[in-house]
Amino acid sequence: MTAARPQPPAAEPQPNAAPDGAVLTALLQAADQEVPAAVALRRELHASPELGGHETRTASRVAAALGEPDAPSVTTGRLARIGAAGGPSVAIRAELDALPLTEQTPVAWASRNGASHSCGHDVHLAALTVAGRAVRRVGGPLPLVAVLQPREESYPSGAQDMAGSPQLEAQDVRAMVGAHVHPHAARGQVSVGPGPVNAAHDEITITVRGRGGHAAYPHVTRDPVLAAAHVILALQHLISRRTDPMHSAVLTIGTVQAGTAANVIPEQVVITGSLRTFDPADRASLWSAVSATAGATAEAYECAAQASFVRGEPVLNNDPALATAAAACLDRAGLRVVEPLRSCGSDDFAYYCTRYPSLMMFVGVGQPGAPDGPGLHHPAFLPPEETVGEVARAMLAGYVAACSVVLPDAAQAHGDAPDSMRIAPDGGGGPH
Ligand SMILES: [Zn+2]
Repeated sequence: MTAARPQPPAAEPQPNAAPDGAVLTALLQAADQEVPAAVALRRELHASPELGGHETRTASRVAAALGEPDAPSVTTGRLARIGAAGGPSVAIRAELDALPLTEQTPVAWASRNGASHSCGHDVHLAALTVAGRAVRRVGGPLPLVAVLQPREESYPSGAQDMAGSPQLEAQDVRAMVGAHVHPHAARGQVSVGPGPVNAAHDEITITVRGRGGHAAYPHVTRDPVLAAAHVILALQHLISRRTDPMHSAVLTIGTVQAGTAANVIPEQVVITGSLRTFDPADRASLWSAVSATAGATAEAYECAAQASFVRGEPVLNNDPALATAAAACLDRAGLRVVEPLRSCGSDDFAYYCTRYPSLMMFVGVGQPGAPDGPGLHHPAFLPPEETVGEVARAMLAGYVAACSVVLPDAAQAHGDAPDSMRIAPDGGGGPH
């Protein structure tokens, strides 16, 4: 959306070192005025998504909507700081990329370019503009850094680049907040579990080599297809027999590629899979057990197997103090805190957790009466428009909670926070 829109009236300057509750209330009131434009922005982003590594247009558009068109770049992402230029800050992450899926929704603003925002990143981006513009209008205890992150869905991970960048280091981030829509929670509900909520994730590739030949003469070949079948079965025992049953772990084989004809025994089979763990010791022992089991099993069939691994996201660990503070703020924001959603899913937000106290909230978008509706990464997944405002409320609750944990004096005292830790409200963020 590039056309001019009616500008909301300028907000009255307000004290920005008020108690948590007053800060949050003021931010939520300001946010309500920003939601209609953000819903229009969400439609615009949704209609023309960009794949990981190509998100420059999306990043520019969102930076402009935040009132920071010149926000510095980190690869194809951007960092938009709202508030004082120096000193400690709280960051909120939103992902820029879409998935290589052909959208299957009936809306007029559906994507037609072969990519699709089927993970809800369009909602996160629009919600972050609401949060950022609300902080600009009202002020806040600490500057807000909007992290517009590329490549959440692809390797190499955008979060890894962003979290290790000197540009983000320069922001003096004291806490990182993220929110992801989740169909397993109902609308109005938010999960903010302390501790691990998503698994570490590694990709496995196993190449099984034999000796190819004619299907009618198997005795003069060494059939890698048969060996690979046994490798796949044997690998499942590593979860059921070699991993402590009280530790969650998953090993899924996702692809098996072999052969070109029904009457030919091929030379090799390539298997790829996904390994998900929560315990670093399990992660290390399963890497070596996968290699040893694949090698020994293939050898029993006079073939050879070699395993390689791509180390992916670490465990996504929510800071307990942030989770507790956020639960109270979410409640004040009219959102219901529910039992933590924990899963063997993964998210590269986990890279921030290794550097900053971090909090990922799962914001419910589940529809009552439709428990089996399209989920994340389904081409028909489409969170309703109201979720833009709901995710924004969750982000603001997380921001205020993080400020209260990072700088309790600044958030709770009346006016005794150092100037460098305050934001002067400016009554608006410019054109959306
Ligand atoms: Zn996602």
